[in-house]
Amino acid sequence: MIDHHLHTTLSPDGESTPEQYIARAELLGGKGVCFTDHLDLGYSKKQFENADILERIPDFDKLREGTSIKVLRGIEAGYNPATAEDTARLLANRSFDYIINSVHEVDGIDPYFDEYYQGKTREQAYGRYLEAVFESLDASYDYSVVGHLGYVFRNSPYPLPIMEWSEFPDLYDAILMRIIYLGKGLEINTSAFARHRSTMPCMSVIRRYIELGGEIITLGSDAHQVRRLYDRFDEAKQMLLSSGARYIATFEDMKPVLDYIK
Ligand SMILES: [Zn+2]
Ligand SMILES: [Zn+2]
Repeated sequence: MIDHHLHTTLSPDGESTPEQYIARAELLGGKGVCFTDHLDLGYSKKQFENADILERIPDFDKLREGTSIKVLRGIEAGYNPATAEDTARLLANRSFDYIINSVHEVDGIDPYFDEYYQGKTREQAYGRYLEAVFESLDASYDYSVVGHLGYVFRNSPYPLPIMEWSEFPDLYDAILMRIIYLGKGLEINTSAFARHRSTMPCMSVIRRYIELGGEIITLGSDAHQVRRLYDRFDEAKQMLLSSGARYIATFEDMKPVLDYIK
């Protein structure tokens, strides 16, 4: 298995080095790691904005020396309508194996924080997030997958936080059909599993993606610390199989390769 969503110390909130992830992957018998540090231009909290990250990306030839596991070069681009063109300019003419397109802020506020939900109904808070994701799909930079669809429920204050497909069928379908039409994939992110017993997106949305003909699915832990490498991948695979998925994708040079889920 390859973990397609890992933050290293290059991210402002990352705590482990690439070498630590590679050593841990070898120890666990993993197939590979894909480093996807943040590129979040225009993010409202300036300490998270790191436009210089691309200048600091480590030498991947060196990281690949002496290890048999795959070491993939990725990035997590935070979509922001005001800065998407700058992101496109920064990413152009650089080689990546994999790019995650993520929405971290909606109308300038990160739903990670309580402030986002104040003065909004659940329908407004969740619906506005899904609209922002829909808008992000046509970003002018190339990307491989949509990151953590459902991020808005991760820290939401509601007693039943998970945002099911049946609550927003039209918005979800518009997003899923557009992802499929554009030839992009869907990331299954396990970072909310401990809290919600759910992946992002949740199972009903994965099932719908499969029903609509979606096939490109990657797994990512979104680890910021080496102990979460491959976290909850077994549970996620079981959820995928129960949702009707047959394949897991791995990316190299921005191209997906589909393998049967084992
Ligand atoms: Zn993210
Ligand atoms: Zn992330």
